[in-house]
Amino acid sequence: MKKSNIKSISDLIKEYFKKHPNKDLQHGPVVDWVEEKYIKLYDKKPRDIWRAIRHLHEEGFLIKVKKGIYRYSPESVKKIKIKDFTQEQKEAILKRDGYKCVICGKGIEDGVELHVDHIKPRYLGGESTIENGQTLCSQHNFIKKTLKQTETGKKMFIRLYELAKSEGNEELKKFCMDILETYEKYNINGHIIWKR
Ligand SMILES: [Zn+2]
Repeated sequence: MKKSNIKSISDLIKEYFKKHPNKDLQHGPVVDWVEEKYIKLYDKKPRDIWRAIRHLHEEGFLIKVKKGIYRYSPESVKKIKIKDFTQEQKEAILKRDGYKCVICGKGIEDGVELHVDHIKPRYLGGESTIENGQTLCSQHNFIKKTLKQTETGKKMFIRLYELAKSEGNEELKKFCMDILETYEKYNINGHIIWKR
């Protein structure tokens, strides 16, 4: 097989979505179609089609309409691919924020590295404008990027805490409390309320 003919799982997913532009597609039929094609090509089952779809969403190729439903819009893909902050915009954002992280107020003189971040992420359609930019230190940039994961974790430990409480499992309760107190200490995901 020539190299140009080798198709990855994500190539097949793209192929399917490109055949149905601007349509809200359920993941089920996409997965079935990719699986069938892949088996025909390689005589084995593809792995993690789901993850590949999510990854294409994170890259900006697919728009997530809601859970399990994605859309391919040629126009928005072009916009995302072309536009990032220009060097001038980055300078303007840093200057506006006083060359300090907007969350902790630390700057280069405090030994942190500064990043220019999209307030509304690009994969959600956030534009590269000065208004949609903010200055973050490496740490807060990282926390922002992993916010979704830490949210999931906090919710899980709240559920586990409740369970431990209702079962009278003191050891597990204490373990969850320690973790949830750490969330509070670092003010992470403060919008998710933990009632003791
Ligand atoms: Zn910071």
